[in-house]
Order: sequence, then structure tokens, then C-alpha cells
Amino acid sequence: MTRALKKGETLVVATHNKGKLREFADLLAPHGLAAKLAGDLGLPEPEETGVTFEENAAIKAVAAATASGMPALADDSGVVVDALGGAPGVYSARWAGEAKDFSSAMQRVEDGLRAANAVTPAERAARFVAVLCLAFPDGTTESWRGEIEGTMIWPPRGGNGFGYDPMFVPEGETKTFGELTREEKHGRSHRARAFRKFAEAKLGG
Ligand code: IMP
Repeated sequence: MTRALKKGETLVVATHNKGKLREFADLLAPHGLAAKLAGDLGLPEPEETGVTFEENAAIKAVAAATASGMPALADDSGVVVDALGGAPGVYSARWAGEAKDFSSAMQRVEDGLRAANAVTPAERAARFVAVLCLAFPDGTTESWRGEIEGTMIWPPRGGNGFGYDPMFVPEGETKTFGELTREEKHGRSHRARAFRKFAEAKLGG
């Protein structure tokens, strides 16, 4: 268990992704917490060598907290496909390669599903997972996991969102994450769910 966060405190957000920083800053501002980007503090990006979302989130949060002397928040996320034995999982970003080519990453998922004869929605079950880790400069950590269940469809649909969104239909929906608006997706996403657990535990709701 880590200590509470105090109003007026600055948190380092251990991401080099400006989109993620905006999401974190929006979450933290109403609680009187400021957010600084790890990249802006000149902190190096550690290698994500973990085999779980929890390990990778902790690697990023601990590296930023110990290097900056401030509490740090990091997230790690990905899509877990049952018929692929949980792949791409923590390797979701890496499946898109240096070129961040998610069309080919989605094709690789589809090829795997076909090879596994996964046809019905139950056989094509998947979930997005996000783990948020808070670390302090003394190395203590606490983490929260958010998940959203769904199905991988083919062909991909919709130009909104990013990554595997056009292939993922969340439970109870007919549209993919790529067809839903930002607001529709963000309210229920894996990241929003992890954020809410963190806020309840550390920011008083
Ligand atoms: P991270 O930056 O290490 O957390 O990488 C997460 C990767 O998982 C992203 O590059 C995407 O490929 C995938 N991913 C995570 N969350 C989402 C999402 O909400 N929609 C689509 N893809 C996602």
C-alpha cells in the first residue's frame, strides 16, 4: 500500500505519448494534482521487459519516480485474445512494428483466429486490459487493472480510435471501438476503468 496523494502535489506521468498525458492531466486536475511528462523532464524511457501488464507498468512508474524524486504514474495496456493464448497481450504495440502498422497487426490477429478455426463470437472472445501503476521514489508501488470484454470481428470497421479499435466490438454493442465516438469509448474503456479504481483509492473518488 502506498501513501495518499496530497493536493498541490505534482505527479510525473511516465509516458512519452502526448495523448495519454492529456487523459491523465484531465483526470488529475479536478483533484488539485498537476501532471508532468517524463519526456519533458528528460527521463529516459525504460525497456518494457515484463511479461505481464503489471510488470511493465511498474517498470515505467518506478523508473520515473526514482529518477525524478516525485510520485509517478504509468500505464500499460493491450488486447488479449483467448484463441491466441492471450496474444498479442503485452506485445500489442510491438505487433505493429516500428512503422506502427496496425493494419498488419490486425491481419496477424485475424490469421491466428482463422488458423484456430475461431468463427463464433465466443471463439473470438477478447478483452482490452489496462494497468495503472503508481510508484513513489522509495520504490513502493500500487496498481489497478481495468478490463473490457468483447469480440474480434473481421473485416475491421471505423476510422476512430487507434490500434486494434476497428476490430473490437465491446460486449453489448454492435459497433466497433473504431466506430464509436471518443466519448462513447472513453466512458467505458479499460483505461477509464483502471483510472476510476485509482481515483477511488488515491484521490477520494
Ligand atoms: P502501451 O503504450 O505499451 O500501453 O501499448 C498499448 C498497445 O495496446 C497500443 O499500442 C495498442 O496497440 C494496444 N491498445 C491499448 N489500448 C488500446 C485501445 O484502447 N484501443 C486499441 N488498441 C489499444
